[in-house]
Amino acid sequence: MSSSGKATVGATVVTVGDELLLGQTVDTNAAWLGRELASRGVRVLRRWTVADDTQEIRSAVAAATRDADLVVVTGGLGPTPDDMTRDVVAELLGLPLIEDHDVLDRIRARYHEAGMGKPPESTRRLAQVPKGARKLTNPHGTAPGLAMEAEGGALVVLLPGIPRELRGIFLGDLDALLSHRFGSRLPPVHLHLVHTTGIPESRLAQRVAEKLPDGAAPASLAFLPDVRGVDLRFTMHGLSEADAEDHVRVLEDTLREVLEPWRFEAGSGDLAEAVAAALRMRGKLLAVAESCTGGLVMKRLTDVPGASDVLVGGVVAYANEVKAGVLGVDAVVLAREGAVSEAVARGMALEVAHSLHADAGIGVTGVAGPGGGTDAKPVGTVWYAAALDGRSVTKMERFPGDRESVRERAGQAALFLLLRLLDGRISPDD
Ligand code: ATP
Ligand code: MG
Repeated sequence: MSSSGKATVGATVVTVGDELLLGQTVDTNAAWLGRELASRGVRVLRRWTVADDTQEIRSAVAAATRDADLVVVTGGLGPTPDDMTRDVVAELLGLPLIEDHDVLDRIRARYHEAGMGKPPESTRRLAQVPKGARKLTNPHGTAPGLAMEAEGGALVVLLPGIPRELRGIFLGDLDALLSHRFGSRLPPVHLHLVHTTGIPESRLAQRVAEKLPDGAAPASLAFLPDVRGVDLRFTMHGLSEADAEDHVRVLEDTLREVLEPWRFEAGSGDLAEAVAAALRMRGKLLAVAESCTGGLVMKRLTDVPGASDVLVGGVVAYANEVKAGVLGVDAVVLAREGAVSEAVARGMALEVAHSLHADAGIGVTGVAGPGGGTDAKPVGTVWYAAALDGRSVTKMERFPGDRESVRERAGQAALFLLLRLLDGRISPDD
């Protein structure tokens, strides 16, 4: 089945571990591998998650090798007795295990460098390499990845379960092996991602369809929504680099006007990165005042490497006493308008910028629920504000969903308001 004459390369991903089945660990390896393989033109046919059990591992790998060109198995490569992937696969493929002196030396050296003395006897298992297997260097650990040929021609690759180790091996030796082995059978894949926020998927899809009535061909278009926004992903198979770039230009021109109010640029996909970049470009410093988001906006901003260049600090002003006493929001206004109000959001953004000596400010105040809603201000009501150089803009929204969803949406909306103020897409209204 897996003859090398086939046009495409089909892969099966097998993740091993009781903890994955019990839901104690989220299977991020399968998701990561899926993305990486797809972006290299490999067709991921299926993925299986199996228990730390010799029979389960054996039958999954055996079935996978029957029709996939590539079988990637992760987890269970470690030194403990529940790590049995190596033994099972070696036996299945009829390869005896041989102690590998290079791996053994490497393990000894790592223990020595870390000042941990002699490696425990159990680590000898890590140096057991199936005969003829290719070792894939593990830049972040001791157990190398292993690549072997199955009888029908499938390439079977074993990777450690620890995500950092798996990624290091994949992006190094395995990448090289895949190109070498499958080369011309991997059609070039080009992806173009556009991040948007603040517009629901259905409305965005409708507007895009109006501009692209015949679709995005030769690209295929997917809408990827989550609570923070919607990404548009254009995928192009089999085009040259130049043709793909040309097509992206055409798509961008066609959709420019539709996307302009909603889009942002961020390599990580996180709007906080775009906000930090915009502040940096304009040489502005930011301070943040949060009530219902409880520090979420600050958390996201401080997740961005280098944020300290543009972020001064923040105040979680939950109680009215803090909004008035620490931030200096007018107590009379607070009493008259209530904590969730335009005047308070504006006051929070302006006052936090002023008191922390920043140029820009964010203020968020709302009813995250499930309690606390009133007829006038039901659960989900959020007032938020962005300030820049002493002027400000505010917005109110009724966000849907539970407490977490309201908080996520509020934080995202406040960041986006500031981004648009910074890049001149909106003007201050006060
Ligand atoms: P070790 O040498 O640590 O034993 P291993 O190759 O045997 O490595 P596992 O024991 O299966 O791998 O898993 C090690 C750790 O890696 C787990 O505790 C878990 O946190 C993480 N992990 C394993 N599989 C996955 C997965 N599919 N997705 C995300 N994390 C995983
Ligand atoms: Mg283990």
